[in-house]
Amino acid sequence: MKRRGRIALLSGALLLGTGLVTPVADTPVVSADTEVQKPAISGMISHEELTRKLEQIERISQGEVSVEVAGYSNHGREIYKATVGTGDKVVLIESEIHGNEKVGTKALLNIIKELGTSNKPEIRQLREELTIVAMPMVNPDATELNRRGNEMTWEEVVEDFPQLEGVSPTWNYYTYQNQYWDYSSNPGFDVNRDFNPDLDYVPQADDFPGQSSEPGWFITPEAQTIRDVYKGLQEEFGKVDVFVDLHHQGEYVIDGTDDPVTFSLSGVFVPDPSSPEGEKYSEYADTYDVEFSKQLNVAIYNAMQEMGNSPIGNISLYPQDLDLPGTALGSFALNGSGAVLFEVTGQTQSYGQKKLGQLTKAVERGLHGILNGVATGDVYELDADKYDDIPLTDR
Ligand SMILES: [Zn+2]
Repeated sequence: MKRRGRIALLSGALLLGTGLVTPVADTPVVSADTEVQKPAISGMISHEELTRKLEQIERISQGEVSVEVAGYSNHGREIYKATVGTGDKVVLIESEIHGNEKVGTKALLNIIKELGTSNKPEIRQLREELTIVAMPMVNPDATELNRRGNEMTWEEVVEDFPQLEGVSPTWNYYTYQNQYWDYSSNPGFDVNRDFNPDLDYVPQADDFPGQSSEPGWFITPEAQTIRDVYKGLQEEFGKVDVFVDLHHQGEYVIDGTDDPVTFSLSGVFVPDPSSPEGEKYSEYADTYDVEFSKQLNVAIYNAMQEMGNSPIGNISLYPQDLDLPGTALGSFALNGSGAVLFEVTGQTQSYGQKKLGQLTKAVERGLHGILNGVATGDVYELDADKYDDIPLTDR
């Protein structure tokens, strides 16, 4: 695998418009003389700042937090792994696999710092019972461009995997431009469709260009890095008990109300391998544990409801009829991890950093719901059927 090292980001100039419409493929670029109104994101964390903060947290934690470079993005930026705790139960949490979904990174840094530096009894218990592995900002090239896809051309993929010479680029390869991004001069992949439940999968020409209901290929260095961390934990601990993926969505309200959603949750990303619809995943029927994923989601929901009447307790369920084996969540759930999706309100390119403090606190609170539940064992006692009582999103 080639490593390009730090290079100047040549063609990454953003084409910005004033519109706040949802970007879609083929939306025309707003002409250059349109007045540009770029939502502020200076409160968000850059890759350089992430590096600095992780070094600082490792230092002040006095040995509780260990930070390693787990791999590199396609443009040579570090992808970090911060580990805290010595327990048998493993919780892997990643953020910003989509670079325009940034709140999770802030929340995750706060959590690592707290776990690494607090001596409160309940935090000490988390460190004793759990091994928490945080991967903040796993798609740093996208982070720097405030966009969803990484920075990688199909030609680079074929260089890495010569067996793909002559096949069509994958369905999740972006080459469009709109008022926010110019993938046409600076293409990239949706890294969160590049996972495969077969963690040893090697790309084969017949499996391209694929589609959303089929597994991905581990063609991007970012997905490879996350996969390698996951496999390393499997080898060390036997399994990754919990996998949490921190994302953002558009702005929604709770179904049947006008209450704006703070974040949506989900624990279901593929049809159940034991069901007729999930038959194609039958080899994973013994490892897949959707009941546990549902219990984890209920633990978060309960933690948010305990805040009383706070508006940030407006939590909804993400759409449930998904078949997305190419997502990290889909692939890792099939491998036996309890899986949790956070979808925080507002994509950063249009929503900016509105309510940043509140949303960050909400994600931290939800993550604590998981960590406490697993550390105390309470989550295993929760009624998984309560998952279906979480209100739906009005979509
Ligand atoms: Zn996302």
